[in-house]
Amino acid sequence: MKKRQFKTESQKLLDMMINSIYTHKEIFLRELISNASDALDKLYFRSLTESDIKISRSELAINISADRDRRMLVISDNGCGMSEEELESNLGTIAKSGSFDFKRDNDQGEEVDVIGQFGVGFYSAFMVAEKITVKTRAYGSKVASIWESEGADGYRIGECEKEDFGTEITLHLKSDTEDENYSDFLDEYRLRTLVKKYSDYIRYPIKMAVTKFRKVEGGEEYEHYSEVETLNSMIPLWKKNRSEVGEDEYNRFYNEKYFDHEPPLRIITQRSEGTATYNALLFIPARAPYNYYTQDYERGLELYSSGVMIMECCKDLLPDYFGFVKGIVDSADLSLNISREMLQHDRQLKVIARAIEKKIKNELVSLMESDREKYEKFFDEFGIQLKYGVYSDYGVHKEMLQELLIFKSSLEHKYLSLKQYVEGMKEDQEAIYYACGERIDKIEMLPKVEAIKSRGYEILYLTDDVDEFALRVLENYDGKEFKNVNDEATSVESEDEKAAIDETNEKSKDMLDLMKDAVGSVSAVRFTKSLGKRAVCLTTEGEISAEMEKVLSRMPGAEGNLPKASIVMEINLDHPIAERLVSLYASDTEKLKKYAKLLYAQGRLISGMSIDDPASLCELIEELMI
Ligand code: ADP
Repeated sequence: MKKRQFKTESQKLLDMMINSIYTHKEIFLRELISNASDALDKLYFRSLTESDIKISRSELAINISADRDRRMLVISDNGCGMSEEELESNLGTIAKSGSFDFKRDNDQGEEVDVIGQFGVGFYSAFMVAEKITVKTRAYGSKVASIWESEGADGYRIGECEKEDFGTEITLHLKSDTEDENYSDFLDEYRLRTLVKKYSDYIRYPIKMAVTKFRKVEGGEEYEHYSEVETLNSMIPLWKKNRSEVGEDEYNRFYNEKYFDHEPPLRIITQRSEGTATYNALLFIPARAPYNYYTQDYERGLELYSSGVMIMECCKDLLPDYFGFVKGIVDSADLSLNISREMLQHDRQLKVIARAIEKKIKNELVSLMESDREKYEKFFDEFGIQLKYGVYSDYGVHKEMLQELLIFKSSLEHKYLSLKQYVEGMKEDQEAIYYACGERIDKIEMLPKVEAIKSRGYEILYLTDDVDEFALRVLENYDGKEFKNVNDEATSVESEDEKAAIDETNEKSKDMLDLMKDAVGSVSAVRFTKSLGKRAVCLTTEGEISAEMEKVLSRMPGAEGNLPKASIVMEINLDHPIAERLVSLYASDTEKLKKYAKLLYAQGRLISGMSIDDPASLCELIEELMI
């Protein structure tokens, strides 16, 4: 055999390859199987155009065999094989890809769908092997060649005996170390699992002799025997037409793959040709996984390139707000990339991600329109995620996501989309009203809610922390502004009524200021009319509402300079208490101050806020009771 050095840059590359490119050693098997599959494709492709190649597709296969005693793993195929020159040029130069050249020269249609493009996959086998022997015979050639290498030092190449055409790759596995049990790759079960994991959808059978047990005839004992089995299932479900696959089959696939015992809420399939060619099979789970709202949850889609799994959880394919979607994307366009970092910058991947995002959105809109009950179930599980989506990234996704939002409303407490709300708005209604609270029944106790409802306006009830933040980012919908009913500036009075109230406030300024000073923590005390039956109500003015202050104060690390809501205490002019306050101002200002404190405490309770100093409040009540 002739002894050769790798080309210099190849040496460096090989070293890098072995040590850093792949994070998991186990992917060497995927790479070798993909190469074998490419070789089978090439031969099959030629058989379609060259009449002297007589081979039927059904004969083409990949074989795996493991020899525990000699620590050898053999992967063979009856594909195109290589001549000595090809062997030299393909395996003697790292990053030289015969597959790429082949694709370039023959790319005229469907049939050429080879996986390899980078010319490094083969060398990944050096992560587990101390020596690799390749025997190969090109189809139609009488001579076979051998290539042998122990890694970076170089390789030997020469002639050899090989009965059939095709390629046989023998890995002499490294010795086991404390960290790595290379013998694992000789284990039948492990090999089967790896084939299932990475190469299940390779279109040719991957065969291996597996050990089985049977009862000895006429006896009670068992004996083992060997039987060749096809390990891969070959046809990916996502490559089949939706109409060919029953819902049951999709559901079973989903249940097995994602360990969910419930069927998915929605199955989404997408085939795309054009700027990006890919198939996607996606699922929306019926229920959020137990760890969905934690750091542990791994969002992403499984990424395949021509039936070969290249990444288990590709984050770049899914935006955060659709993180609940599970599934698979398979694209022949994707370069079987060598690292995650490179994949991230892949233009094709970005095109696919955008198309998938649009598809998911459209599916959700159609679910909302066609099966409202199901959509609401979905929203109960994942709606928060969509609302965070509106709020996050400074609102850049809000246009897209706003159609998907639904909120419970004052009318029948049923979910409404923003579109539905606007359609149901009264003629004289200018804004979209919302009120925040922990629960609907608590929100309904808010004086302002009662007042606005009495005008016949509907109110959106916001009970999730993120809700108000999301609406603030939206600012308006269909030209209608969002208004918190508890915002001081939200009023439903007519201009005349407003003018009258302003006048009263002006006249009572000294009294109101006295009350304000007595309370201490409000920015103003004012008379108002829109409080329904209630005597008092705390509203806020400015950017931060009381609810937002509450949410912000609960965030980790919130102590210190938190933005505070600026609270206004509103007193109902139509309530008998108003008159009482005015008369106290004339007769007993000390008592008026106490009343002010009491009203403030009442306002806090009604808005679901706590009382800072309950003991003093109780004393005050007792004092006023005697
Ligand atoms: P890639 O598969 O990315 O092109 P590899 O380093 O894995 O790169 O392989 C280099 C080249 O060697 C392949 O492009 C192919 O031409 C050739 N090759 C590898 N394995 C086989 C095989 N089993 N049969 C025929 N040719 C092969």
